[in-house]
Amino acid sequence: MKNKLLMKLILGLAIVSCSLLIGCQCKHETTSKATCTDPSVCLSCGAILGEPLGHSYSREITAFASCNQEGEVTYTCERCGDSYTAKVPKLPHSGNEKITLEAALTQMGEKQISCNLCGKIITESIPYAGSSVDNPYIIKSSTLYKDVTKGEGEQYQGKYLRVAGKVTYISDYGDLKGYYLYGEMGEGVVCWVNGSELVANTDSNVEFIGFVQSLGINQIELTECKLVSDVSVSVEPGLSKETAIELKIANISSKHINRWVSFSGEIEAVVPYGSYTWYYLKGDAACLSEETHEIGETVNFIGEVVSVGELWVSIIDCQSR
Ligand SMILES: [Zn+2]
Ligand SMILES: [Zn+2]
Ligand SMILES: [Zn+2]
Repeated sequence: MKNKLLMKLILGLAIVSCSLLIGCQCKHETTSKATCTDPSVCLSCGAILGEPLGHSYSREITAFASCNQEGEVTYTCERCGDSYTAKVPKLPHSGNEKITLEAALTQMGEKQISCNLCGKIITESIPYAGSSVDNPYIIKSSTLYKDVTKGEGEQYQGKYLRVAGKVTYISDYGDLKGYYLYGEMGEGVVCWVNGSELVANTDSNVEFIGFVQSLGINQIELTECKLVSDVSVSVEPGLSKETAIELKIANISSKHINRWVSFSGEIEAVVPYGSYTWYYLKGDAACLSEETHEIGETVNFIGEVVSVGELWVSIIDCQSR
């Protein structure tokens, strides 16, 4: 009896171990062939016997690129027929060039190419001349307002400029900082600086060199700015808290943005805004202030203009005085 039990146990163990290690028993007699994407496997036990082969593409030009049209190359797998196409960029027009307008520091040039490939005469622009990091075009802050306006000012776009100004505000996006320079009335220069090695404080006079990225009305935006040197910048009078200009509500213009102004009026509406309060004056002015005033009260506010609409102006840091 004991022996029979032992035999059964040994037989059972043998079956279990064989089914666990079945791979060692299989001779892999029936197998599938490897394809481009699938491996070779044993159809009895499922063991992987060979890696997928990968596609074997041949290349054929199915459309030739020209100076007016993109080309196309088709890749086809010789084994399974899988295929895909890739675009070929247009060729540049090529032929005799004639410069019809010479590029200058503040003006793009123009050239005509009589193309040998397509037979047409093509007009292309030539980039501004003479501007680089080492040879920047210098504009003084006192000429910015006049020059950097829509139309006339657009000519500075895409050029390296050197500008000087007083830092009035720094916007901080971690590694990216925007230095707002202060120049003439209504004018803003923003210098976007990547990296933290450049340190300028508000109120410091700086000279930046940078690449002009965009221009607004009375605004110029430089990127890749480098601090060149601390300079002394003469600031137009009438632009501090102490020397704010008197502004009659009828005279409001967009030029007054970011200027210290003072005006007086009767309060028409009071609107709470967090810890601040908006005071709407008769005559289309609004003042964001921590002070308290009441409707009907006549006040004289001083503050920095932050936004200007067609018939209104809003100022912050208001103080009555
Ligand atoms: Zn097998
Ligand atoms: Zn294939
Ligand atoms: Zn052509």
